[in-house]
Amino acid sequence: MYAFTAPFQNPSGSPIRELFKYLSEPGMISFAGGYPASDLFDVEGLQAAAARAYRAPSRCLQYGPTDGLPELKNELVKLMASRGVTCGSDELLATTGSQQGLDLLLRVLVEPGDVVLTEQPAYPATLQALRLQQADIVTVPVDSEGLDVDALAALLASGAVARPKLLYTVPTFANPTGATLTRERRIALLKLATKYRFLIVEDDPYGDLRFSGEPVPSMLALTAEVEGSRDWVVHFASLSKIVAPGLRVGWTIAPAEIVRRCVIAKQTVDLCSAPWTQATAAEYLADGALERHLPAITARYRLKCETLCSELRAQLGNAIAFHQPEGGMFVWARIDGIDASELLKHAVESKVVFVPGKAFFADKLDAASLRLSFAAPGVDDIREGVKRLKRAHDAALGR
Ligand code: PMP
Repeated sequence: MYAFTAPFQNPSGSPIRELFKYLSEPGMISFAGGYPASDLFDVEGLQAAAARAYRAPSRCLQYGPTDGLPELKNELVKLMASRGVTCGSDELLATTGSQQGLDLLLRVLVEPGDVVLTEQPAYPATLQALRLQQADIVTVPVDSEGLDVDALAALLASGAVARPKLLYTVPTFANPTGATLTRERRIALLKLATKYRFLIVEDDPYGDLRFSGEPVPSMLALTAEVEGSRDWVVHFASLSKIVAPGLRVGWTIAPAEIVRRCVIAKQTVDLCSAPWTQATAAEYLADGALERHLPAITARYRLKCETLCSELRAQLGNAIAFHQPEGGMFVWARIDGIDASELLKHAVESKVVFVPGKAFFADKLDAASLRLSFAAPGVDDIREGVKRLKRAHDAALGR
């Protein structure tokens, strides 16, 4: 009846959000969403920050600049400096969650049919955004050390794909694999981007959630080591996983000429991100509350991750294969001989949910894979959830 635009004629919604219908069922244990643990929100710290922000009510209640409140941008510049990145205000755009940064970037850069590279498996909302933008998605495999940069180099050298506009990757504690790209691969990737002139889109919402192993600098920080590479990195970051997603505070760091265009795109999207939560976030960061609170979050996530991984080994033994991550929120697993979408049906009956791997593949689906998030459920629920998963696995095998 309506003449929808091409991408919206037969659209499919987020496969993860479709699982949300199960979450309201009483007693359900969820390893599904990438939700942070709500009992770890620094409620008092945020209330105090909000109260301080509201001392200048018009700052909270009036429209703000499209590129972000100056006091928030100042705090984000300082935060990035603590992460080894120097950036000017004209290279930084505050966004409504980092998700908006991706949407804006694709609007200003990607024409229908443009080749866009993504790691595979990849964050589904990125795949969805690329499909809506009608990009030609070309996938690059990942392993336990992140993106397979050799495979990418071979692909680029073969000339089999047109010059890509950009490559999307979550190099640190990836969603969904939990893997972290090694320093050597980061340097090699920066060299490739500089040589072949495509943008690396580094999505980094989880980088601060390291609970073991040695920190690796972000791709953006490492541009200092590869001449000319800074022009080829766009970096997304967010307070969602380290403070609270309800703030909807994210940011983009990119070359100024890209930021300028993203600001113009944002003018038609929401004029500006909510000044109230931006001012609250600025006060929270200025007070040093993030550094004070982060250790409590990472300590709990370490415990949750260890619990999930040891229970999976105890309950499912050799049937399941996975790499224990050093941070973030996700364990990516394979259960040989199982279709994870079928397993999910039995799991729902046993009152546990996870995300079948299908959601994360643009092509060459590995049906035996699944993503388990340990962030939101409590430790006892994690133990019980894995027992239920084992029951679902038995049922799926007809035992
Ligand atoms: N990128 C990745 C890899 C994510 O996992 C998420 C959240 N699930 C986002 C971006 C979006 O985060 P935000 O809340 O900052 O929009």
